[in-house]
Amino acid sequence: MRPVTDQQEQAILAVHVRGLDGMCVGCRAWWSRLTPYPCPQLDWATSRQARRITNRFLEGAG
Ligand SMILES: [Zn+2]
Repeated sequence: MRPVTDQQEQAILAVHVRGLDGMCVGCRAWWSRLTPYPCPQLDWATSRQARRITNRFLEGAG
């Protein structure tokens, strides 16, 4: 079973996508907020995911 944080990141990555007007779809849908894509939430989830993938790689390699 995956940790909760993993699911949160997956949910953010799935919802916060680029809209036709270049704004974040997830921010508008969740908070009625117009945020240029990529939004801070997506940055957060992306950086966390990248860090975890790197950690997995290092664990596997080490
Ligand atoms: Zn967003």
